[in-house]
Amino acid sequence: MSEQHPVPRIETRAVHSGARSPGPEGSVVFPIYQATVYAYEGSTDYHDIKYLRLSSTPSQKYLHGKLAALEGAEAALATSSGMAAATGCLMTLLKTGDHVIAGDTLYGGTHSFLAEDAPRHGIACTFVDACRPETWAAAARPETRVFLVETITNPMMRVPRLKEVVRFAKDRGLTTIIDNTFATPVNFRPLAAGFDLAFHSATKYMNGHSDLVAGCVVGPAALVEKVRRTVNHYGGILDPHAGFLLTRGLKTLALRCRAQNGNGTALARALEAHPKVAAVNYPGLETHPDHKHARELLAGFGGMLSLRLKGGLAAVERFIPALRIPYHAPSLGGVETLVVRPSITSHAGLSKAERDASGITDDLVRVSCGIEAAEDLIDDFTQALDRA
Ligand code: PLP
Repeated sequence: MSEQHPVPRIETRAVHSGARSPGPEGSVVFPIYQATVYAYEGSTDYHDIKYLRLSSTPSQKYLHGKLAALEGAEAALATSSGMAAATGCLMTLLKTGDHVIAGDTLYGGTHSFLAEDAPRHGIACTFVDACRPETWAAAARPETRVFLVETITNPMMRVPRLKEVVRFAKDRGLTTIIDNTFATPVNFRPLAAGFDLAFHSATKYMNGHSDLVAGCVVGPAALVEKVRRTVNHYGGILDPHAGFLLTRGLKTLALRCRAQNGNGTALARALEAHPKVAAVNYPGLETHPDHKHARELLAGFGGMLSLRLKGGLAAVERFIPALRIPYHAPSLGGVETLVVRPSITSHAGLSKAERDASGITDDLVRVSCGIEAAEDLIDDFTQALDRA
């Protein structure tokens, strides 16, 4: 590494961080340690136990090192899913009587946890528009402990006022948590921006191949250690095979995300120019309401966008089956392009009035761009629009 760059760039960290290179027996790939438990090496301290559910085995530690290096964090923890990461963070920081302020367009599972499960533990939540800082003070209470947001929200791709979230929380002594799934550390590094704790559904971009479910938490060592303790007790740890696949996926994170940033931008621009398209939601477009601050915050605008057609639902029902490259499927962040209608999938749990109020109309189509050639995606979306 040159003198000017003592910390390697993210592409290099993605490949090499996490362990000494080469690994055991000179292997250039860190192996899967399938053992659930390890023999003592002289010490008998409880905290020295290497046991899978305690997330303390060699391949788990290797993965933790890579995740921490990618996010520029002191420490990381891999979990069995994004929801295990979200609930692990929340249940570590909150107790009966506490209150949370959270963005009102969180991923459905996180939203339901705060709205339905957390109250059963005596934890209250107020949902706020994370893009409107002037509304937050009214939500704060003496017992507020946490402010939770996402970097880019689903499916309108809004970018909350993240600098203001950090400032607001610091002024009131709140802990900030951010779900960085949509941005990835390639496009946004929450800890450097002042957030206390970040988590991911590593099922999405971090793994990138739509072939496992996983999550991760990154932050200061002392805080991640507390989350590890909670996750140990709830049992939401990552199995070694999934961990191996996630580690492999992480090595190409920067390459994939840059390709997806490029495809998101190219497709959003082409769709915006098409006469049958009514609206495109993509933070990289000048027409997006958050474009100005998104440009300051993000290194790239990501691979997620949504659109509406002038012909409404009837046109969408012709458009989706006419697409040849994307799969019609939920989830996101994989190498293959996916399209889905949020009103009947991720947001089906909301009432129609709630969905319409947030712009999630029945004719909204969400696109997760893969790493295919941008020209092929544009050609395919154009031919499908022409037939819609
Ligand atoms: N956070 C976001 C932004 C998501 O999109 C998802 C899942 O779609 C989750 C968290 C939950 O992740 P998982 O399905 O890995 O539990």
